[in-house]
Amino acid sequence: MACNLLIRGMLNTLKPQSRITRRALFKALGIGGAAALLPERARAAALPDTGGEQATLLDLTRCVGCEACADACREANAARFPEPRKPFPQMLPSGTKPEDFSDRRADTSRLTPYNWLFIQRAQAQGREVFIPRRCMHCQNPPCAALCPWGAASKYPGGTVAIDADICLGGAKCRDACPWAIPQRQSGVGLYLDLAPRLGGNGVMFKCDRCKDRVAAGGTPACVEACPNGVQVIGPRPEIEALAREKARTTGGHLYGLDENGGTNTIYLSPVPFELLDAGIEKGPGKPHLASVADSMAPSNRLAWAVLLAPLAGAASVFLRGARAVVRRKEGGDERV
Ligand code: SF4
Ligand code: SF4
Ligand code: SF4
Repeated sequence: MACNLLIRGMLNTLKPQSRITRRALFKALGIGGAAALLPERARAAALPDTGGEQATLLDLTRCVGCEACADACREANAARFPEPRKPFPQMLPSGTKPEDFSDRRADTSRLTPYNWLFIQRAQAQGREVFIPRRCMHCQNPPCAALCPWGAASKYPGGTVAIDADICLGGAKCRDACPWAIPQRQSGVGLYLDLAPRLGGNGVMFKCDRCKDRVAAGGTPACVEACPNGVQVIGPRPEIEALAREKARTTGGHLYGLDENGGTNTIYLSPVPFELLDAGIEKGPGKPHLASVADSMAPSNRLAWAVLLAPLAGAASVFLRGARAVVRRKEGGDERV
């Protein structure tokens, strides 16, 4: 009953141009036996943007691991993938190795600078569960708070993105991220012009929740491409209410409401996340699913963030200027 009221209320609030059908919404939500049997391809599920933080709910009971989402992500973002200059500069301290995925672009088994979403697989409670993994878009993202250059930022809609134009690839974001999501490609970026021999540089890459596409009125490519309506994107309060309601009605488990202080990516699983975490392969580019305390809560981290904020702002202005100079030089402008 409560569920029906919630859905009816949501349908009534949808704007005409973005309204999804009652059947599509039921299907996306996985609620209602008849709706679940609909034969047609599910539509992308996007609730209207009301101006606050947006969140996505990924219903793992519906994911069949077909990788259409990952394919769509690569296609949508291909123009932004790094094209490194080779050979890589000898880095200091000597022995520092480049991180190079440019010859492994087809690797879909993990997160890489060329694969911002991949499907993890777990065997748990006698079933196989497929888990699309990408940036969690934390509500209080340590990657953005602790980036010394202001290259990683949280945007008003809740998206966390890295500006490849000014990222120097120091990987502070990856170190600070509880899931080590951002992935580095060496041999690209502003550092080549500023300090080419400084060890461990490049540019960090990760999902930006299709920021530009969404700003133009679209839906993230992975959300749109899924044939099973696994993902729903919408205002966080509504997505959170949906997540809780679905978990209550299906006996499911949620991940992301509290992890790292709350994330704008919420998973619904038919089995407990401890079991999923135990069942997945973990390692570089293959994030865990363990519970995560708020990493920005310790006072030393907050203090660093407060200290870094003005410096990062100034650094970002400087780096944007440097990037503009490099671009003009590359364009052959003699005045520079
Ligand atoms: S998951 Fe990691 S990379 Fe993504 S917003 Fe959170 S801290 Fe940043
Ligand atoms: S939201 Fe966009 S960038 Fe992020 S995983 Fe989906 S398609 Fe890729
Ligand atoms: S496209 Fe949908 S069903 Fe296929 S792997 Fe991605 S989320 Fe799962």
